[in-house]
Amino acid sequence: MESVKDIDPDIYALVKQEEQRQAEKIRMIASENYVSQAVLQTTGSVLTNKYSEGYAGKRYYEGQQIIDQVERLAIQRAKDLFGAEHVNVQPYSGSPANIAVYLAFLNPGDTILGMALPHGGHLTHGAHVSISGRYFNAQSYELDPETGLLNYESIRAKAKAVRPKILIAGHSAYPRILDFQKFREIADEVGALFMVDMAHFSGLVAGGVHPSPVPYADVVTTTTHKSLRGPRGAMILCREQYAQAIDKAVFPGVQGGPHDNTTAAIAVALKEAASESFREYARQVVKNAKALADALMANGFTLITNGTENHLMLVDLTNKNISGKKAAKALDKAGIVLNYNAVPFDKRKPFDPSGIRMGTPALTSRGFKEKEMLIVSDFIAEVIADPENEGNLQRIAEEVKALCRNFPAPGLEHIR
Ligand SMILES: *Cc1c(COP(=O)(O)O)cnc(C)c1O
Repeated sequence: MESVKDIDPDIYALVKQEEQRQAEKIRMIASENYVSQAVLQTTGSVLTNKYSEGYAGKRYYEGQQIIDQVERLAIQRAKDLFGAEHVNVQPYSGSPANIAVYLAFLNPGDTILGMALPHGGHLTHGAHVSISGRYFNAQSYELDPETGLLNYESIRAKAKAVRPKILIAGHSAYPRILDFQKFREIADEVGALFMVDMAHFSGLVAGGVHPSPVPYADVVTTTTHKSLRGPRGAMILCREQYAQAIDKAVFPGVQGGPHDNTTAAIAVALKEAASESFREYARQVVKNAKALADALMANGFTLITNGTENHLMLVDLTNKNISGKKAAKALDKAGIVLNYNAVPFDKRKPFDPSGIRMGTPALTSRGFKEKEMLIVSDFIAEVIADPENEGNLQRIAEEVKALCRNFPAPGLEHIR
């Protein structure tokens, strides 16, 4: 960072402060992670200087001798890792990837059916503030009010009633494994295309601890920066028959030139994700989530669905007489960073809901194990019990810092 220091001391100082923050906090935002030094370096490489609209062998500008190899390598690694017939690695992020799928298969006004946003779905699955809800007839399915689980019979009934062109499975806040077979059957019964958005859990799929949607879905989208632990970007995996439609929708349909530095970093992350140490990471992410969920419940917390099968959990704080936002802000002061989140059928407003969401990918990447989950659970319980005790929050923040010092995070090993 020496040149940044010379040219722009302001941004240099802010980057250093963010490094410090990431090193000394317990980061539990379920969609965040720590990428490796190799991914960081590739993201910051001269590949950022290149324009390469089009696809390998069919570009609009010259000078693609190297970039074509980079993109082909990223695609091949993604195909091998996920067993996909076709992969597009160009989407700038998860949202444009989903929009590209809609552009490939829908006309304005066509019907899509996805999980409701307040129940764990994503904005791009048809929320009314999103282009997905504005340009299409967006219908949603909800969780079972008793169990907090997906109810496949009610999804089937909804699908039969609204007859979507695309049925979407995938979420940002559902702590259970999805039954892709059942979704596939429902899609077939109503003649819908079946799309899975595995943004949150693709790292678990890659690591072999979550069933893969690839054999069931027509199209699978994923971000690359969440549990998969790559740079900020996305991929679309699909059956060969949809390859052309998907590629055309990404470019020139939604995007211009791909971010080649990101493509290269995705290739690096995919190589890492095919390793035994990544599989070990994925196993530990799930073990840590289970250990944390059990410890929180033992501490008197209410977990939606009474636990987790993946990397995340949703805590309903109603019995603790504190709102999600107030809890998240107090926890942040104590060095534990997560987000407030609506719980299914939340009686409170979305900007100050009843719950908090937390996930284990980032802390697993820095080496936390079950033993540390017990400590984290106790920290959380202490904060929630006395959220306005500033002295207490500060003391916990110091303890968090001391704990973190023993677990240097990937990419931040130089921070002491
Ligand atoms: C995070 C997420 C996205 C969007 O990804 P961005 O990169 O933030 O645009 C899409 N779908 C799901 C399910 C997600 O969790």
